[in-house]
Amino acid sequence: MSTRVRSVIRVEGVVQGVGFRPFVYGLAVRLGLGGLVGNDERGVFIEVEGAPALVAEFTAALRTSPPPLATVERVSARAVPVTGETRFAIARSTEGGTRRALVSPDVATCDDCLREMDDPADRRYGYAFVNCTNCGPRFTIVRDVPYDRPNTTMAGFAMCADCAREYHDPADRRFHAQPVCCPACGPRLRLLGRDGEPLAGDPVEEAVRLLRDGGVLAVKGLGGYHLAALASRESAVAALRARKHRQEKPFAVMVADLAGARSLCEVDEVEERLLTSGARPIVLLRGHEEAASLVAPSVAPAVASPASLTTSATASQGTASSGTSQMASSETSPLAASTGVSGETSAEASGESEGLWLGVMLPYTPLHHLLLRRLGEPVVLTSGNVSDEPIAYRDEDALTRLRGVADAFLVHDRPIHTRTDDSVLRVLRGRELPLRRSRGYAPRPLPLPLDLSRPVLACGAELKHTFCVARGTHAFVSHHIGDLENYETFRSFTEGVEHFLRLFDVVPEVVAHDLHPEYMSTKYALALEGAHLVGVQHHHAHIASCLADNGVTGPVIGVAFDGLGYGPDATLWGGEFLVADLVSFERAGHLATVPMPGGAAAVRQPWRMAAACLDMAYGGAVPDDLDVVRRNAESWDGVLALGRRGVNAPLTSSAGRLFDAVASVAGVRDVIGYEGQAAIEWERLADPVEKGHYGHRLTGSSPFVVHGADLVAAVAEDVRAGTETGTVSARFHNTVARIVAEGCARVRETSGLSTVALSGGVFQNALLLVRAAALLEEDGFQVLTHGQVPPNDGGISLGQAAVAGARDNHR
Ligand SMILES: [Zn+2]
Ligand SMILES: [Zn+2]
Repeated sequence: MSTRVRSVIRVEGVVQGVGFRPFVYGLAVRLGLGGLVGNDERGVFIEVEGAPALVAEFTAALRTSPPPLATVERVSARAVPVTGETRFAIARSTEGGTRRALVSPDVATCDDCLREMDDPADRRYGYAFVNCTNCGPRFTIVRDVPYDRPNTTMAGFAMCADCAREYHDPADRRFHAQPVCCPACGPRLRLLGRDGEPLAGDPVEEAVRLLRDGGVLAVKGLGGYHLAALASRESAVAALRARKHRQEKPFAVMVADLAGARSLCEVDEVEERLLTSGARPIVLLRGHEEAASLVAPSVAPAVASPASLTTSATASQGTASSGTSQMASSETSPLAASTGVSGETSAEASGESEGLWLGVMLPYTPLHHLLLRRLGEPVVLTSGNVSDEPIAYRDEDALTRLRGVADAFLVHDRPIHTRTDDSVLRVLRGRELPLRRSRGYAPRPLPLPLDLSRPVLACGAELKHTFCVARGTHAFVSHHIGDLENYETFRSFTEGVEHFLRLFDVVPEVVAHDLHPEYMSTKYALALEGAHLVGVQHHHAHIASCLADNGVTGPVIGVAFDGLGYGPDATLWGGEFLVADLVSFERAGHLATVPMPGGAAAVRQPWRMAAACLDMAYGGAVPDDLDVVRRNAESWDGVLALGRRGVNAPLTSSAGRLFDAVASVAGVRDVIGYEGQAAIEWERLADPVEKGHYGHRLTGSSPFVVHGADLVAAVAEDVRAGTETGTVSARFHNTVARIVAEGCARVRETSGLSTVALSGGVFQNALLLVRAAALLEEDGFQVLTHGQVPPNDGGISLGQAAVAGARDNHR
């Protein structure tokens, strides 16, 4: 006995619900060690006893070879007296203390489970809820910590004897798999008709039949309901669009496997890794030429060619003549214009040279696998909602809200606790760029580049909203909440905050918020009692988010290009060069301010920005042979007058609005149907081989001013000269990339800084990001871009948390 030692070991990180205890058990048994392992609120605790070398090997293995889904952040061990214990056991979970354990994101079905699902001899053959310690639902079913079955939405399902045996057998893959179940004891599928009435027959078979017949199927997934239709069937996809009131925003497609993805799109190594990862995000991929013939035109409606832009003039009718301050609020139907365009979209159009971009994902639940295999072809899989509402996730709600949209409902009786949308990524410069970080990623903690002295709640911005709870060196960025513009999303936000505070045992002492007084998130923060409030400027938060994303604290030169954010000088910022660290920032340069005629109306109607910019660039003498003037002739003068008078025409330095203006001048989009549409289409039209650019002017200093309207005029002149749209778009992008590089070079002269952080929604634009980064790197800059949270406002909460925490640490 004298050669034995005993250690008490604590393991922290994402170590619950990821098969950690069975791994520890197996390891101890293999090494012939005695002791125990258990979960508590802080993670996993272990006591282990045996020969010193073996105990050391055991302890090392906890760090070096944990189960695939675990993230081990800390292993601490201390020696205690030996007890002579030779058997190893799994202890019951304890309660009390602080809840430091980290809840895992949901994980796609593993290969072992798929094999069982496909094996006619297995008791889970064809079972839509097969899962194990390595896969299955997690965050979406967790109600509380510790992560144990009674604290999940599986609480209502009593395990049968077979499942219980697996659950309690340390040698079994399902040992302590909290959602373990089988056809005898677990959730069941049902197929319901339009009005919620049960339909006869095998639910999956009948659902497949309905899809083949061109129907629209609502499917209950992990984080909410989806709407599905055969991707190849134009009538089905068009019906889905019409019923969802979603005219133009592309739909995502689910394919059965990697081969299915490759049959539609180019897939490189990084994209393959993302598609097949446990998170299974939607990955934005470039379609093959043949893809256009394999998916219906309505899946991803083509970029409108300038010739098809015929409806905008009527859409904007009457808006200018009203010319009063209530204009923005009175225009409640900004989408009216898109109806005509999408109705004219033809198969030929989407086969045009610009190419097709598809959001593609692989099945991530057993039910998806069953459906896709039996169908044998891709389906459109889009959020179960109508227009911009949040995705439905409660059964009653889904049946009500999706009535009239879905022809049938494929449902089950395992409740979803937290609504969680699919994540969306694209790959740029060989690295992932998140566009929406949600299912499969949230609530995995992101490491902060500082150690917070007090816990922080960051309330986020308004659009693409997320919030963030942070303590110590961990930031828990929430799932995607959506646009905080209605009661439903606002409630998701407030309930989500309460859930996160409980899950991660945080009582926030510092609360960060945007400076915009009208954001719902700001109002929420200001109404909280007892917390130390920290207002964080929108673009500072963007740059801080990029810093935290890259694990650094600055200072850096930050280029924050986005739509709109509240500036301290009462203008709307959005084309900003900052010198920033986590604590503070200075505005080193910005785009010249331009009026937004009609306020919010100018966001929905890019031609208004075109009018304001052209008026500025041409000194009031806009050439009337420009198509954009002709198309909007009826309202043109009224809008110009609005801008000149400055009534209901807030000033903005936004880069997003500049992109909108040129996209309209080039005839791409006068009126948008969804946020960023004009800029997205403008980017896709660009001719990748065109290297030309326009002249540009940066004047003044501290801050310098970039004359963006010059670019609008340059685009207008090219359009008048009949230059091809793809060439014009490329020249514009090249010019903006040069402006970014020159602006940074100027800031380097005065600040001595040579690291640049690129953030803000405009940097979702691949062409701009890649070209700007290349120019900066050629000029000796180190370039930081996003890899873990989106550059758009979905990443703002992380930046707010970092800034508020850094300021609080410096008190
Ligand atoms: Zn599994
Ligand atoms: Zn069972």
